[in-house]
Amino acid sequence: MTQRYRIIFQTYDDNAPNAILTQEALLEDSLNPPTSCLDFSMGLEKQLALIQKAQDCVVDKKVKLLQEGKNNCPKCQKKLHKFGTRQSIFHDVFTDHKLTIQRLKCKGCGYDAPATVKTIINTTQSGDLKKIQATLGATHTYREGEKIFELFSMRSRRINNHDRIKHVTESIGAVIEKIGETEKDVTVADAAMELVLNVDGGHINTVEPGKRSMEAMASVVYRPEAICSNGKDTRNYLSSKSCAASVNDDNQQIISGTIIAALKQGLTDKTHVTALCDGAANCWNVVEAVRPLCGDMTCILDWFHVAMKIENISLPKKLKQKLMRIKWHLWRGNVDNALTRLEQLIESSKDQKHSTRTAIPAGDSCAVFPDGSNAIADPPRECDDGPLGEESPTEGKTASNSTKKLDVDPSGSVVSASAGIAGTRIKKFSKYISKNRDKIVNYKEREKSGLVFTSQLAESTVESLINRRCKGQQHMRWSREGLSPLLQLRAAINSKDDWESKWKMAIINAA
Ligand SMILES: [Zn+2]
Repeated sequence: MTQRYRIIFQTYDDNAPNAILTQEALLEDSLNPPTSCLDFSMGLEKQLALIQKAQDCVVDKKVKLLQEGKNNCPKCQKKLHKFGTRQSIFHDVFTDHKLTIQRLKCKGCGYDAPATVKTIINTTQSGDLKKIQATLGATHTYREGEKIFELFSMRSRRINNHDRIKHVTESIGAVIEKIGETEKDVTVADAAMELVLNVDGGHINTVEPGKRSMEAMASVVYRPEAICSNGKDTRNYLSSKSCAASVNDDNQQIISGTIIAALKQGLTDKTHVTALCDGAANCWNVVEAVRPLCGDMTCILDWFHVAMKIENISLPKKLKQKLMRIKWHLWRGNVDNALTRLEQLIESSKDQKHSTRTAIPAGDSCAVFPDGSNAIADPPRECDDGPLGEESPTEGKTASNSTKKLDVDPSGSVVSASAGIAGTRIKKFSKYISKNRDKIVNYKEREKSGLVFTSQLAESTVESLINRRCKGQQHMRWSREGLSPLLQLRAAINSKDDWESKWKMAIINAA
């Protein structure tokens, strides 16, 4: 005897649950003892088929309910007449549904009752589908999003092609952006004694004519107690944070976004704010805009960026070793000492002309943080090094590529230009340090006291907001119009509770 099972769709009246009104079999299959992980459950294919049929039934009944009792024209009260049927399509997360809907028309005034999915619910997609499309679009490339949908739906569906995902992501992001603009009156959360503010910028390739990159800015605000350690050797995470992002040239959007984020985290005029920045002037400007709203503020040059810059300076071995020693003066907050030694290093770089050259690739030397963790897990991102010089990062990249060619000639011997270049690199770094000298603190002391000194210890860097999605593919170029809604959506998704509280409103209002 083979046992089989049957899954049935029934309708019944709420008052008489036992009196079945309609009944339809959704799925039948045999029950066999399992032999492996491949046949233990129904299997994805059958699960999808079940959802398909169940939804077909539900949607069909719901449409019929909508038309039930609609005998008269809502405009002129005359009788409505049946007028053929219309076919339309509805898309849900896993399934697509073809619906045939009765058309009702008024012969008196010509009123045509809604008879397509689009005219009934104003869209052809379920809210859940749009939410997932937008979330995937914000966290993955649109093409990756398409592939992920394909995996779960077990087939490619036109509704999930990359263009659709892009459209939904951008239109929902645009609504999130609008909501952000009208959000000035945020109810302040529990007052925070202490907040940490991170502001950072990242350069993203642009399609704008005459430009190679545009700067996106992001800020993250959190309470220090929100840092949760994640177990040994893994990055900590934040149990709560509020984010803002902008790709606008003026600072207004990132400033107002940052203030709202701070208010959501409990900023009051008594709060002490610790601000960490990479050293770029536009980042400090955002921080300064928050200052009048808080009680007191400590500005700190983000140790993550200091260490990263030191790692990324490519120098002959001896110079690099000396530079690494200067790092420890900076670590203890001895700026004067560090600057003096940097001057000496620039001098001694002039004597390096005839020494044997051993190039140390960026990031190859001591990449261990004073706290023992691996500080620079990610490859160096040249584009983030904006503040090092006045040049644009893209130009900087070109320059460093060409210097690399100058540095090493095929025989491995020293080219006379290399000494000058080493000096220039150290000078740049020295300039960066002296420009930010009043924001360099005793990092060592702060670490000992358990105080925040780096954006690296928690997932609060700009990387999680901008870089991971927008800089993932080197060849990707963005328009401001395409990037801005995406960034707003990413900021919302990265902010605790923000996306969950906004997605329904955003989806209903999206184009
Ligand atoms: Zn009518």
